[in-house]
Amino acid sequence: MSKKYFITGGILDDGSKKDLLVSDGKIIGYENPVNSSAEIINASGKIILPGLVDLHTHLREPGKEDSETVLSASRAGSKGGFTALSAMPNTSPVADTAGVVEQVMRLGIEAGLCDVFPIGAVTKNLDGRELSEIGAMADSAAVVRIFSDDGHCVSNPAVMRRALEYVKKFDGVIAQHAQDPDLTINAQMNEGIISSVLGLKGWPAIAEEAIIARDVLLADHVQSRLHVCHVTTAGGVEIIRWAKARGINVTAEVTPHHLLLTDDLATSYDPVYKVNPPLRTEKDIHALREALAEGVIDIVATDHAPHPAENKECEWQEAAFGMLGLETALSIIALTMVETNLLDWKGVAQRFSRTPAQIGRYAHQGGEFKVGEMANLTVIDPAASWRVDRDLVASRSRNTPFHGMELPGVITETFFKGVPTLRNAQLMQKENS
Ligand SMILES: [Zn+2]
Repeated sequence: MSKKYFITGGILDDGSKKDLLVSDGKIIGYENPVNSSAEIINASGKIILPGLVDLHTHLREPGKEDSETVLSASRAGSKGGFTALSAMPNTSPVADTAGVVEQVMRLGIEAGLCDVFPIGAVTKNLDGRELSEIGAMADSAAVVRIFSDDGHCVSNPAVMRRALEYVKKFDGVIAQHAQDPDLTINAQMNEGIISSVLGLKGWPAIAEEAIIARDVLLADHVQSRLHVCHVTTAGGVEIIRWAKARGINVTAEVTPHHLLLTDDLATSYDPVYKVNPPLRTEKDIHALREALAEGVIDIVATDHAPHPAENKECEWQEAAFGMLGLETALSIIALTMVETNLLDWKGVAQRFSRTPAQIGRYAHQGGEFKVGEMANLTVIDPAASWRVDRDLVASRSRNTPFHGMELPGVITETFFKGVPTLRNAQLMQKENS
């Protein structure tokens, strides 16, 4: 018999009060029998969410283990309340074959702290020209349903069209990194007043919006499923709103950092704020928050992008794009969406667990708190706060833009298949330090 847990006094995301008895990986009841051996977890004053599901994670393994591994990312995920991560394929080798996606899946199972669902590359070696082994990855043991060249845009419209057509066979989806390459050659930050002042090459909003507009038309034309990664502009939101109103099968994500940070942070010249797509303006943030609240943007995804110090602690021009996200994501959403009354916890659960699980066709994730369901859940104390310290992260990298910030919402437990993984991740981190 596996260990039993009785989570008592907590409030579910829908506002109801319910105690949960967890055993053998599942929720087995709402009461604790007399003489029960269950460990009691006092969750009074805390919110219980379905385990968070990230559709956009760079785990860096295989090939870039100095930045992150599947295990270290799984630890970071457990600390951040995640029970599922989606591994972006821009590894070395690229995850463009059944062999590599199965390897990533196996590494996730070995780490054992959360589900790791591999995303397959759309094109071979992410070169944008020839489709990868999409069918073989879909049929593999990894059962890949999401395909993306993230980090690169599938910029050739004929290739994008073929990819969208191909994934229809097995109910797959193309997740596009919308960035017109010709409009963003050597681009360093958002194109605007700040980029002119700093003399850094600008990254215009139109470079993102033109691809989103083209792709929703392509998805409509071939009647396939499109997911837009990390939307950052008010104009992009308007195109997605238009596409949804027309019944086009499109979903979209926004990252926590794009809901909070603006391009004027670049005046510090600190590359910790260098990210792809770039930080935009207050006006964009306002539009993104409203769109996430309304459901025009469907989900939150982290775009967790670890980099070693030598690639971040250098000149802005030379620095790598990307920020850590897993360990701070839920707190940033609490700050930007819950404390502003734009979303309640049910809305957070929908956008950060249930809808991402639906988009990825992930079984046993984003569930309801019913008897017999897999016990994948996160307990958060919304009244507590914590200070981000980059030296205490579980990630192998340190590139968090939130270092030193006091954030609301402390995650007190994460359960993956009925096992308390947040504690396990903290234990492992202690042993390693
Ligand atoms: Zn991307």
